[in-house]
Order: sequence, then structure tokens, then C-alpha cells
Amino acid sequence: MKRILFFIILFTVVLLNSLRIKEERYLTSVLWQQTSAEYRALCYQAYNIAALRILEHKTNSNEKAIVVDIDETIIDNSPYRAERIKNDEFNESFWDWVKLENAEAVPGALDFLIKAHSLGFKIFYITNRDEKYKKYTENNLKKLGFPQVSKDHLFMRQNKISDKSARRNSISKKYEIILLIGDNLVDFSQVFYGDSIQDRKEITDKYKDDFGTKFIVIPNPNHGRWKKMFYHRNEKISDDEKRNRMIEKLKGIEE
Ligand SMILES: [Mg+2]
Repeated sequence: MKRILFFIILFTVVLLNSLRIKEERYLTSVLWQQTSAEYRALCYQAYNIAALRILEHKTNSNEKAIVVDIDETIIDNSPYRAERIKNDEFNESFWDWVKLENAEAVPGALDFLIKAHSLGFKIFYITNRDEKYKKYTENNLKKLGFPQVSKDHLFMRQNKISDKSARRNSISKKYEIILLIGDNLVDFSQVFYGDSIQDRKEITDKYKDDFGTKFIVIPNPNHGRWKKMFYHRNEKISDDEKRNRMIEKLKGIEE
């Protein structure tokens, strides 16, 4: 009897493992981004608020700047992540996807930036895509019709420095930055970097009045600084280990 039970358990474990899909931890979040009307509505909401904000700064607009992040702020890279989930054979890197120059615009982003451009504001794109992918990024943005896409307005990551402060500061020397738009709070200020989940929440509470006024947040359920709190993007650990570390962070009903 014990033998039979052992084989039933073994069979179930093997079956469950074979059913598990690659990068399953992204399944719900990518689906939400790609299929939910709510994701689109949140993006529109964010860009509608951004449009209201810039109207308050219309005078001398050519001395004022709007700073936007790129990935998951104005363009959508979810097809890359979706392909990794769907296709077991697909092992290309994010940079291979970047080279395709095929990302589509995030809902509302294009209309907003065209409007800002027509009102005379300076637009600067600050991204942590590496400098060597500048041309591909520029081509993708131009293909979609984003305004002011030129080498002086596109700040890539150099020397692997992800902190965007120096790039923001170089813009501040010439222009007043009136609005920052991003999907990761460090797109606004390095103060949001934080070393723990609690730390990040407390800093965010401290700056709560700036959201919707100076900082416009675009939803990104797939990746960002928030996810580094789980496994610090240590890609060397197994999918199961990543899953376990995420489950550890769940807050259940307290006794
Ligand atoms: Mg981003």
C-alpha cells in the first residue's frame, strides 16, 4: 500500500512540474498589461493628469522641461516577456528585442507628448537602456511619432550607471523640470531607491503630495525596483527559488 501511495505522490509531483510553464511568475502580470481594459484606463488617467498639469505651466514653456522614462512608460515591451513565457525555445535577450525596434506606444503617451511639444515644452527621454542601443531606441520612438527624439534629447545609460540623477541634473541646469513621468519611482528621484519594501513605502508616503502633481506614475506589474526586493534580480537562482521568495513576501491574515 505504501509503495502505491509513494508512486501516486511521485507521479503527481512530476505531472505538476511538467505543467508549470517557463517564467510563470510573469503570467498574470503580462496578461493584465496586454488584455485588461483597466491597464489602458490607468495609462489614460495618468496621461490625462499630466496634460492638466502642463496647462498650469504654459507661460515661458520653452524654458520648461518634461522628463519621461521610456520602457513601460511610453513604450510597451510586454511582447518580449510574453514570448519568453509562451515559447520554450525562445531565449533571446531583452537587447535582441530592442534591436527589432518594434515596441508599441503605451496608451495616451503619444498624444500627451505631441500636445506638450505643440505647447512649446522641451521633452527629454531618460532611459536605462544602454548607450549602445541608442540608435535602435531612437528609431523605435521616431517610427511611432514621438516628438523631439534626437541625440540631445535622448539620455541613455552610460558606464552601467543606472542612477538617473546626473542626467536629470544636466537638464535642470538649462531648464526647469516641471513634470517627470515613469513606471519606476527612481525615474523621479533617487530618494525612492530604498533598501527594503518598508523603506520604499515610507519614502513614498513622505512624498505623497508630489504624485499627480510633479510625478506621474505609469503602471508596470512586471518589473522594476519593487521586484528587486524579492530576489534582487539574481537570475542565477532557479524559477522555483524565485517563486518561493515571492511567496515569502505575501502578507496573509494576521492572527
Ligand atoms: Mg521604465
